Amino acid sequence: MPTPATDSEFSFELLVCRWAELGWPPANGDAPGSDDTPVIVSRQLGTKKRRWDTIVIECDPEGLVARREFGDRTIDGDLLPVVRHAPAEWAYYRDALPDPGYPWRYVREAIHRAAARGLVEKRKNGNRIEIRRKRPYPEWVSRIIAIENKPDLDASAAAALSDQLEHDVDTALADEVWLATGRTGERVEPALLRQFPVEAGVLTFDFSAGTHVDAATVDWLPSALDPTSDGERFDGAEKARRRRLIAERAYGKGWRSFTETTRPDCRWFELERAGRGVVPTCAAKGRCQHETECSSRCGSFEPEPPQWRTNGWPIDGGPGQGLRRLLERRRERARKR
Ligand code: SF4
Repeated sequence: MPTPATDSEFSFELLVCRWAELGWPPANGDAPGSDDTPVIVSRQLGTKKRRWDTIVIECDPEGLVARREFGDRTIDGDLLPVVRHAPAEWAYYRDALPDPGYPWRYVREAIHRAAARGLVEKRKNGNRIEIRRKRPYPEWVSRIIAIENKPDLDASAAAALSDQLEHDVDTALADEVWLATGRTGERVEPALLRQFPVEAGVLTFDFSAGTHVDAATVDWLPSALDPTSDGERFDGAEKARRRRLIAERAYGKGWRSFTETTRPDCRWFELERAGRGVVPTCAAKGRCQHETECSSRCGSFEPEPPQWRTNGWPIDGGPGQGLRRLLERRRERARKR
C-alpha cells in the first residue's frame, strides 16, 4: 500500500515543501541540517518558460522583518518599481521613478494601487502627482533555491528532467538547483545521475516516517550558480528584477495555496496526516488526487452536503471552508517565523 507521499507527484511535492519549511538546508555528512536562516517556501513558480516545483527563498533576517512591514500580499511587477524607487521626500513621480519603457499612465495606475495598499504615499500638487515612500523596500532575499521533484526517477523521467535542469543551470536565475526524488533503498542509479548537469544537487527522500528533517539524504551536492553574472538569456539587471518578482510571489503565495486551485469544498476532499505535514486525499478515488483533476470538472465532484455546514460543525461554511482556513493560518505562521 503506497503512503500518501509516494502515490502522487502532487503529494510528494507538498511533503518536500513541508520538509523544506522544517529542515532547510539539508544535513550533509557531519554538517547539521537547518540553521537559523529564515526561509519562505513556495511551489509552481518561475518564468513563462520554466516553472519550478518547489522554491526555497533564504531570507536575510532583518530584511525579512522589514519586508513584513509591507504586508502579507505579493508586491507585483507593476508595484515594485514604485515601491522601490519612491523617494524619502515628496517628489513628482516622473522625476522620482525610472522610465518604465511603457506609457506613464500605467505607472499612475500602479501609484494609486500602491497608495491604496498603504505601500507609498501620494498627493496632488497642482495637477501633478507626487509620491513619497513610507519606508525603504529592503533587500530581503539572500538566495533562491529551485527544487525539481520527481518521486519515481526512471530513465525517461531522468531524460526529460536533464533538459530542464540544464536550462536552470544556464539561466542561473536560482543560486542552486536540486533534484528531489524518492529513496528506493538503493542509492540513485549512477547512470541516471550522469544525465544531469553536475551543478545540480540530488536529494533522496523517504517520507514513510513523515516529514522529519532527516527524511532527506544529500546524494550529490550542487555547485553555486552565479545569478549576478550575465547569463545567456537575461542581463544582470533583468535577472535581478526577475529574482525579486519570484521572491515576492513566493512570499505572497507560500505553498499551501493549493486550497485555492483544488476543491476542499467537495465532500470527498480530505487531509491526511503525514508526520508533521498533511496532504490532500480523495475518498472517492481512494488515493491522493492530482492537483489538476481536483476541480469542478472532476466527474466525482460532489458539493459537501448543506447539513455539514449546520450539523454541529463548529466553523462557519462547513469542513471545506474550515480546511481552507486551517491552511491559511499555517501559511501565516510560516511567513512570520
Ligand atoms: S472527487 Fe474530484 S473534486 Fe472531489 S476531492 Fe476527489 S478529485 Fe477532488
